[in-house]
Amino acid sequence: MSMASIQHLSQRILEMEESATIKMAQQARDLAAQGFDVISLSLGEPDFDTPVHIKEAAKKALDDGYTKYTPVPGLVELRKAIQEKFRRDNGMEFGINQIVVSNGAKQSIANLALSLLDEGDEVIILSPYWVSYSEIVKLAGGVPVFVHAGIEQDFKATAAQVEKAITPRTRILLFSSPCNPTGSVYSYDELKAIADVIARHEGVYIISDEIYEYINFTGKHASIGAIPEVKDRTVTVNGFSKGFAMTGWRLGYIGAPGWIAEACSKMQGQFTSGATSFGQKAATHALLSDMTPTHEMCDAFRHRRDMVIGLLSQIPGMKVNKPQGAFYIFPDISEYFGKAGNGMKVQNADDFSEYLLHTAHVAVVSGSAFGADKCFRISYAASETELREAIRRIDEAVRQLA
Ligand code: PMP
Ligand code: GLU
Repeated sequence: MSMASIQHLSQRILEMEESATIKMAQQARDLAAQGFDVISLSLGEPDFDTPVHIKEAAKKALDDGYTKYTPVPGLVELRKAIQEKFRRDNGMEFGINQIVVSNGAKQSIANLALSLLDEGDEVIILSPYWVSYSEIVKLAGGVPVFVHAGIEQDFKATAAQVEKAITPRTRILLFSSPCNPTGSVYSYDELKAIADVIARHEGVYIISDEIYEYINFTGKHASIGAIPEVKDRTVTVNGFSKGFAMTGWRLGYIGAPGWIAEACSKMQGQFTSGATSFGQKAATHALLSDMTPTHEMCDAFRHRRDMVIGLLSQIPGMKVNKPQGAFYIFPDISEYFGKAGNGMKVQNADDFSEYLLHTAHVAVVSGSAFGADKCFRISYAASETELREAIRRIDEAVRQLA
């Protein structure tokens, strides 16, 4: 007689939301597998291939025998290259022991949350925010506190809003600039105002996610960690996925106060160990060699952004701002709420994204996953032909709503 197996899942995983970006990308693949002509603008990843010289460096590293475990916080030569990069691009000085290389910026953020948070500790997350922040914070026992900014303030929170959200339990302020999902970029002055607030509140740390640093159309990237008042209280997160089109390589890193770097390294030592050996060799090469491919990708993204804004602005009821970085646009679509089409009623951003997927066969991500239920996210890391066709279909679908 066979007994039914007992399937016990932890409360931790039961309470966790699945990543909406990854879920939507999968839904689009599934629909495409059924034979539908789906355009996926859901996943945030450059459509470009990794530059050739970086791939060559990885091949050479394999041939040279870089196939073994590496030190948990990363190869010394890569950490030296990151040290140099922080100096060169961000005006920040770190010792080698203040840098920890990880298997992606996502892991860096998880390392930090698990190392810094106790049950009930609050993390102020500037909203709209990247999907995984809130789930990682909750996994670590923390409580996300969202400070929201709508399209009317270019999706950027003010220092006064941040100050209002601080309580005795606040441990961390977490945000990305350039921002996923809005593409908004905080200027030096905006960051300085926030830094001044944090500086007044001892014990509050900043996690600044700068993974889109090189996709910035303002011409200059500002790092909050370079501001003297908070430099010892800031962890800067970065990685290779976006600026070097290396999403599949899984390589991220932090520059942090020494005691935080040490904790993250300890955490990672139990979870995953050092990142891929030959990938680290290629990453060293990426940071220290010609950045032209990165600049060219940035130019291409800027060009697409302008095209996408131009086309979206012609759709009645669609509210768009002008993102200054990353490769996302985050239109406000609240005008359509209450309308219906194709047998579906659109009450919120989730409904709207479902409606687009099934009516236009265009996959986007609902803003609700990013804390903004009036908006949806388009990743314009796709060819101009695909983008034009996708927006034509979105336009057609929206005009059917009544
Ligand atoms: N931070 C932000 C804001 C992101 O959009 C992403 C998406 N990839 C990550 C971190 C994670 O990057 P990685 O591929 O290095 O894990
Ligand atoms: N960060 C990207 C996105 O927002 C990749 C997917 C993910 O890691 O969530 O779409």
